[in-house]
Amino acid sequence: MGLWIGAIVLLVVLVLVVALNVTMRRRGYSIPGRTVVRCSRGHLFRTTWIEGGSFTAVRLGPTTRYQRCPTCRRFRIVHPVKDAELSDEERSQVAE
Ligand SMILES: [Zn+2]
Repeated sequence: MGLWIGAIVLLVVLVLVVALNVTMRRRGYSIPGRTVVRCSRGHLFRTTWIEGGSFTAVRLGPTTRYQRCPTCRRFRIVHPVKDAELSDEERSQVAE
């Protein structure tokens, strides 16, 4: 019995994670994948963001993370930026 409950919980979590990633993509974010994020000091950088699959950052919600900013060289609160909301200048700034 316990095994079944564990399997069902795992399946539900998996479905929710997939649904969240699909929702973020529909909202215009490059999630799951390489998205542009802005740190609390305004720096832009690109990072890999997969909902439910973050190992290098502390997840605080679907659009909030506590992650190291390469410009600040410190941990900052970061939020993803939609590709459509970037100016041309900002886009070239984070070009890979
Ligand atoms: Zn920064």
